Amino acid sequence: MDILKFGGASVKSASAVKNLLDIIKSYNNQKIVVVISAMGKMTNAFEKLLSNIFYEKEKLDIQNSFDSIKKYHFDIVNELFEDNENHIFQKLDFLFKEINQIIENKNTNDYSFLYAKLVSFGEILSTTIVSYYLNSQNVNNEWIDIRKYIKTDNNYREAKVEWESSTSNILKKIDFKNTSIYITQGFIGSDNQKNTTTLGREGSDFTGAILSYILDAEKFVCYKDVAGIFNADPNVFEQTKLLSKISYQEAIELTYFGAKVIHQKTIKPLQNKDIPLLVKSFIEPEKTGTIIYDFDKQIEPKMPVFIIKENQILISISPKDFSFVAEKSINIIYNYIVKHNIKVNLMQNSALNLSISVNNDTQKIKSFISELKEKFKVRYNNNLKLITIRHYTTQAIKQMTDGKKILIEQKSRNTVRVIC
Ligand code: ASP
Repeated sequence: MDILKFGGASVKSASAVKNLLDIIKSYNNQKIVVVISAMGKMTNAFEKLLSNIFYEKEKLDIQNSFDSIKKYHFDIVNELFEDNENHIFQKLDFLFKEINQIIENKNTNDYSFLYAKLVSFGEILSTTIVSYYLNSQNVNNEWIDIRKYIKTDNNYREAKVEWESSTSNILKKIDFKNTSIYITQGFIGSDNQKNTTTLGREGSDFTGAILSYILDAEKFVCYKDVAGIFNADPNVFEQTKLLSKISYQEAIELTYFGAKVIHQKTIKPLQNKDIPLLVKSFIEPEKTGTIIYDFDKQIEPKMPVFIIKENQILISISPKDFSFVAEKSINIIYNYIVKHNIKVNLMQNSALNLSISVNNDTQKIKSFISELKEKFKVRYNNNLKLITIRHYTTQAIKQMTDGKKILIEQKSRNTVRVIC
């Protein structure tokens, strides 16, 4: 049994959904669980709708956001289902009524709670449409509301999975007795009060990994709009090369350093059960793409891998009295970092100061810095880039840093990291 995951781009239009149908058919009744994201950029659209509701924008703004989401889905459905007798039309009407009710009865000040409740409709809509469409094409399948089975804590926007209850729920539900194809949502779950939760942006990959782990999948296949994992982001770099094999360890390192192609939490559950992950193109599904598995080398072919994190702010912190930065002050600084929920991408300390590079998430950073300033001297530089090169060569470093002002450079055996 395989778990397949389709991201937003693979269901962004009627023709994309038709392409998905062909891929599913190519599995020839083999047992599969298909995890699907919200269509196209619908998660962003729902986030916008939410911020319009939450920050009490004009009624018109809310109406416009709602209408454009509704139109987007109905356009796809109108193209997919020539027969307008199909029940999908009523089903969608019903779902949009539910969305409307959430908008009208916003009776909470908890942004994250409302976020999960509303934004999760992106996945509910996409999987409903795909499931009805496959059935209409005689590819019989069962739609599952994964929120009932993946249980989490109540951290609504970055929920932590409760493995024990999720495992028993999923094993009870997904038994392939009545179907060989299940269609379900990525990214969402629920807490023990049955409130919807989300696993963090791009969390559908992680859902695929959770299901792979629990169901002991043979493999987890992630269909993307790129042909696999490249040695640099093809959207940023002109010349990139496909990595054909990557070890689990290396994949964890790459996502840790910021490679975006796979969600950070995805690899570990797969590694724990030795389940290979295939990353391949939904446009050219016959091509093998990249395989991540228990590979005895790090990557193949061996070459420098480039990862860039933009929008970094480098904060240098030193004691006000010019004393050394010793364990005690590092401890205080770290407590602030934890308190403000800040993720440190790079850290360096000297006798007199500690420097950290973090994402410049304006609101958070502002309050972090102002609190730090009560006890420390703080300086910062923004608009910086953090460049990581795994398996670097002198040539690769030169290529990335020539003519740039380097503020920090850190080198280890496999990795060089530069702030510039
Ligand atoms: N739809 C969610 C997002 O865009 C989850 C996912 O696609 O993985 O972040």
